[in-house]
Amino acid sequence: MLIDLHNHTGWGSGDSHLDPSELIERARRWGLDGIAITEHNQVWDPEKIEALRRRHNFPVIGGAEVDTDIGHVLVFGLQGPRRWLRLPSLEELRSLVDEAGGVIIAAHPFRGLLTAASSSHPSEDEWSQLISHHRWNMVDAVEVYNGLAGSQQRGLAAELARRLDLPTTGGSDTHRFMDVATSFTIVDGELRDERDLMAAIKARRCRGGDWASEGLVDKRRKELIGATSRWAPMSSKE
Ligand SMILES: [Zn+2]
Ligand SMILES: [Zn+2]
Repeated sequence: MLIDLHNHTGWGSGDSHLDPSELIERARRWGLDGIAITEHNQVWDPEKIEALRRRHNFPVIGGAEVDTDIGHVLVFGLQGPRRWLRLPSLEELRSLVDEAGGVIIAAHPFRGLLTAASSSHPSEDEWSQLISHHRWNMVDAVEVYNGLAGSQQRGLAAELARRLDLPTTGGSDTHRFMDVATSFTIVDGELRDERDLMAAIKARRCRGGDWASEGLVDKRRKELIGATSRWAPMSSKE
């Protein structure tokens, strides 16, 4: 099953205008089998999630992307509706999530960390410092495939997961319809809700990927590039 674990919509993220129904229908059309909604610093009311699941007959999972003191993390398992007004430390979030039996995923762990040339190939010492500074040993999984991350960030995130012996995930980090279904998580088994997802991550039955990494047809790209090429002759005359 292919599920996108990182999506922002206009219903909960100030930086997204995407309608949740459009997100779901595009995800389905472009080949995904499920999506998670992870707004910035808030978990939706579970009734809204359930309503979308029923209306579209499509697996929809509620989570959140929380800004912690050491960076962004995706969380699943906390009861909504919930909004963080004061941003938590990773320790605070970890104890909340543990109480709920949930999971924490380090989101795009290397975004913003690649400014120094030396960080593209950290030494052993730099790896130890990075891991202890970010407390990456407190997460359950690492988002290796993020739709907004390039190959360098992805390579470092994969190396981080390998060093910590953690499962990997993928998500598009959708904010606009064009971002939908660029990255995803391959899950062994079927997911219907948050519980299924938490069980799959804890049992390591998942890995991050995209269409190229899995050798699958990228319907999204075909449709978007097809649309661009139909317009190309007109714009090239200008
Ligand atoms: Zn983020
Ligand atoms: Zn995000």
